[in-house]
Amino acid sequence: MSDSLHKVIILTAPSGAGKTSITKYLLQHFPRLAFSVSATTRAPRGNEQDGIDYHYISLEKFEGLIKENEFLEYEMVYEGVYYGTLKSELDRIWSLGKVPVLDIDVKGALHVQAQLGAKSISLFIMPPSIDVLKERLQNRKTETADSIQIRLNKAEYEIGFSNQFNAIIKNEVLETACIETAEILKKFLGPDFTK
Ligand code: 5GP
Repeated sequence: MSDSLHKVIILTAPSGAGKTSITKYLLQHFPRLAFSVSATTRAPRGNEQDGIDYHYISLEKFEGLIKENEFLEYEMVYEGVYYGTLKSELDRIWSLGKVPVLDIDVKGALHVQAQLGAKSISLFIMPPSIDVLKERLQNRKTETADSIQIRLNKAEYEIGFSNQFNAIIKNEVLETACIETAEILKKFLGPDFTK
């Protein structure tokens, strides 16, 4: 039986801390990892694609899935906007013999960690500073000034939970943060990881 069977990797961070870049690095370098595509009620941004970045669904459909107990976890991450990890998504990835990578918010990460315990590893990606975070969000050019402010306020709140995760990765230099993350995951997943 595979050592990495039914394990889960949770990456969490304030928005703009570099979690998505680190996730992309991991997925490119380690074919045994697979991105867990969340469901969300927000509209696609930029080049995002349905079924790849998220499953974009209506509020009505999302609430129906909550009632049917289809989510491992879900959160209203922003006012009126739901995001959630579908149990079926994890089953799909496990059935391929792969390990899901969850890119989710801090509260969702705490819930998954509480439910899965040692089957999961949770990594908090720490931005170098709030100022750098602000700069990164501004450079994305996909956010309005209001949405940047909302994300910064939330970031300060989320950093307060960083000690509750298995490891904190400071993302000052992306490449270093990626390598550090990969090393931690190799220990968690064992030799299967590099196959
Ligand atoms: P964005 O709108 O920038 O794609 O994502 C906003 C936040 O929602 C990010 O912190 C992202 O990690 C989080 N998020 C994405 N999917 C999920 C999910 O399934 N559950 C939870 N709790 N948060 C999620």
